Amino acid sequence: MEPAKTITCVECGGTAHLLSQRPVDDPFEPGDTVAYTCEDCNHRLDLVLDEDEEVGEFAGQ
Ligand SMILES: [Zn+2]
Repeated sequence: MEPAKTITCVECGGTAHLLSQRPVDDPFEPGDTVAYTCEDCNHRLDLVLDEDEEVGEFAGQ
């Protein structure tokens, strides 16, 4: 599965960018933790990937 490249920062409402990278042959899986850093306030956000979270084109396969 593929986490969102950017999310909304919970601290300031700015754009937080995906920090974590995985090789193509070892992709993210549900339960993995992905880190984002806000470009505005540098707040770090850690998200746990959730199997229930449908991500665009990857949904329903
Ligand atoms: Zn922020």
